[in-house]
Amino acid sequence: MKTFQCNCKDKLILFFESSHCLSCGRAVGIDDNFDQVEPYEFDESTGFYYKKAYPKVHYQKCDNNAKYQVCNGMVNINTHALVEEDDDDAEVLCFACRFNVTVPNLNIKEHIPLWRKMETAKRRALYTLKVLPVPLRNTTQDADNGLSFDFITDRDVNDHFTSQLPYHETVFTGHDCGHITINLAEADDVARSQTQLAMGENYRTLLGHFRHELGHYYFDQLITPSPSKHELCKQYFGDDALDYQAALKHHYENGAPANWEQTFISSYATMHPFEDWAETWAHYMHIIDTLETAKNFEFNAAISDAEKDENDTEKLCLPQGRQYFSSQTSITEILEEWMKLSVILNSLNRSMGLPDAYPFVLTDAVRKKLGFIHHAIHNHLDSLADLEDNS
Ligand SMILES: [Zn+2]
Ligand SMILES: [Zn+2]
Ligand SMILES: [Zn+2]
Repeated sequence: MKTFQCNCKDKLILFFESSHCLSCGRAVGIDDNFDQVEPYEFDESTGFYYKKAYPKVHYQKCDNNAKYQVCNGMVNINTHALVEEDDDDAEVLCFACRFNVTVPNLNIKEHIPLWRKMETAKRRALYTLKVLPVPLRNTTQDADNGLSFDFITDRDVNDHFTSQLPYHETVFTGHDCGHITINLAEADDVARSQTQLAMGENYRTLLGHFRHELGHYYFDQLITPSPSKHELCKQYFGDDALDYQAALKHHYENGAPANWEQTFISSYATMHPFEDWAETWAHYMHIIDTLETAKNFEFNAAISDAEKDENDTEKLCLPQGRQYFSSQTSITEILEEWMKLSVILNSLNRSMGLPDAYPFVLTDAVRKKLGFIHHAIHNHLDSLADLEDNS
């Protein structure tokens, strides 16, 4: 994730989540291009916002931004009006909020700060995807293959989601044909930590949930439609024809097999090839997002100075950090940078008395799976097949 900068005299740093500039006080947000967090001027006479350089283009805060401050989305009224022309009741929603089908029950005011955490994680997950050459469309744009979200719960926010709410069906976090459900309980630190301890996991975050479930979605988008890619995928992740319910039952009764760390990124990944793919996909996203963040702060200058290729910038011609989203950067380069950075990250955390930021080991087997995902995203699986044939 890059950081951004206000154009006021203090040139203050703006973060992806910023909603106003701490120096000039102007509203800050991101428009439907979902690329740039920037300041907006407010025109009292029209009641609309505009960017200083384009005073004639009118923006309005996303309804979820204006009413609940759960996003920092700004909506271009000129283009948005064309879409929602005849519907007076239609909400004005930003790029990220248009993926939502169900938001938490807002009659319960305690849900709002938790929903905000959900949206923050969701927007970050979407931002990384937006830069990659993968489809990212909501169900209005693509009824058959679009992506959508439900943020719901079957439990009571007032006791950290311990008691079951009456007349509520059980809510499972998961993915079903492009529709992702995340239980609001996962946004509650107490509830999530309890689950994490009960499951013996060393990492459980909202962002991780989003990236994992999105992994399932992209399996359907990138792999399933092509029999040849699907066959190749099975060589890396195993045969996904394996009965899912039986695998689930086996996993919860017996746990992960011995020495699973040699071939899987997490214990949960051992459950079924679909879960192995989703877990590995989530790690790929964590890795490239974090590398971009580090590069943004020139944090890795110390890491890679010794072996910096003078032609790197020429070769890629990409803004700081963007090379990790490019097909021209090999998975080997990405993982080499990541190994150095993750050691620094973990050491920084230990200095603060915190658990390791990245408590995982990337064995050769896991690296190969990450490589497969890298090639799947950049649609280079053919070259991977060639490599395999020649090796
Ligand atoms: Zn400012
Ligand atoms: Zn929004
Ligand atoms: Zn899963």
